[in-house]
Amino acid sequence: MLVLDAHCDAPSQMLRLRDFGADNPRGQVDFPKMKRGGVDASFFALYIPAELPVDQAREHMWRLLAELERQVAAAGLSAGDVRAAGSGAAGSAADVRVARPAVDVRLAGSASDVRANKAAGRLSILVGLENGSPIGDDLSMISLLYERGVRYVTLTHSADNQLCDSCTGQGKWGGLSPLGREVVLEMNRVGMLVDVAHSSWKTIEDVLDLSTAPIVYTHGCCHALSAHRRNLPDSLLRGIAAGGGVVGMSVYPPFLSEEFCSVLAASRLEEKMWVEAEFIADPGNAAKASAWFKVQDELAMLPRPGVAKVVDHIEHTAAVCGIGGVGIGTDYDGIEVTADGLEDISKVGAIFAEMRRRGWPEADISAVAGENFLRLL
Ligand SMILES: [Zn+2]
Repeated sequence: MLVLDAHCDAPSQMLRLRDFGADNPRGQVDFPKMKRGGVDASFFALYIPAELPVDQAREHMWRLLAELERQVAAAGLSAGDVRAAGSGAAGSAADVRVARPAVDVRLAGSASDVRANKAAGRLSILVGLENGSPIGDDLSMISLLYERGVRYVTLTHSADNQLCDSCTGQGKWGGLSPLGREVVLEMNRVGMLVDVAHSSWKTIEDVLDLSTAPIVYTHGCCHALSAHRRNLPDSLLRGIAAGGGVVGMSVYPPFLSEEFCSVLAASRLEEKMWVEAEFIADPGNAAKASAWFKVQDELAMLPRPGVAKVVDHIEHTAAVCGIGGVGIGTDYDGIEVTADGLEDISKVGAIFAEMRRRGWPEADISAVAGENFLRLL
C-alpha cells in the first residue's frame, strides 16, 4: 500500500532549526518517522503568513524551498557529514546529537516519481505552496513555481488575499477575485493543482464552476460532524469529488470534534499562542523553545478525539461523495495539538488499522491512503 500525506508544514519547522534527518522527539514529522510509519510520500507546504507583502512573501517562499531542498539532499548523510556540508539554518542545529539513521529521500514531482522512489525504498517529498500571495499579479510565477517542483497552490490562508476570500477573512471579493479567476485558469493550463483549503465556501463554489481540472482540499474535515469553519459542508464535499478531486482528512482536534473546541476554550491555552510566536521569532533560544514545548505538553493533556473520530470523518466523506474523493492531509507540524493516538506521522497507520477493523476492503483503504491523491499527479 502506498501512503501519501497531502499536507504538512514541515518547511516552516526547518526554519525553526529542526533537522529532518534526525528522529526528533519534538517533531510531528521527520524522515525517520515517515519511514517508521510506512508513509511513502508527503507534500511539504511552503507556508506563507498572510501578513507578508508580496516581495517579502516571495523571499520567504524561496527561503523555505532552499532549506527544504538542502535538508532532502542531506537526509542520507551522517551527522558529521551534515555538519561539514551544512550552510543553512539546520547545519548549526544542536540536534545532530540525536539519532540520525540514514533515510533515502528524494524530491518528487509526479505519480511515477513517487512509485519509482517507493520501489527503490526511498521516501518522496512533494512540494505545495500554502497561500498564493507570492504570485502577486504575475501569472508567469505559476509556470516558474511548477518548474521549481511545486505541484499545488493553496489559493489563500487566514485572510483574503489578491486571489480570493478566505474562510476566516472579511469577504472582500465575494469569492474569487478577477485576478483569482485568471490564476485558476493559468494553473489549469500549467497543470498546477488548485487547493481550496482555507478558502471561503463561495470561493470554492467559484473555483468548482471555473476550473477545467479536478481541485483539492488538502487538509480539513466534515462540517456535518464538527461545525468548524475550516470544515466542508456535504455540498462542497460532493462538488469537489464530482469534479474528480480529493479532500484530505486532517488529524487536528478542533476540526474533528466540537466538544474539543469547548474543552480548548475552557482550558484558556489558546491565550498562550504568543509563546509559540516568541519561539518562531527566535528559534535558537533554548528557553523560548522549551516554553513552547511546555504549552504543547499542556495541550496534549486535554481530552482529545482519537483515531476513531478521524475514521468517522473519512466514512462520512466516503458516504457523501464516494471513496474516490477521500484522502489524508494531516496538517502535522502546522498544528499545536493532534488527535489522541496520532501524535506524529509515524502513527498514521492507526487510521488504516481502524478502517480495517471496521471492515473496509484493502483496495478502498489503499485508495484513501494514497492512490486517490496520486491519481491527480
Ligand atoms: Zn493550513
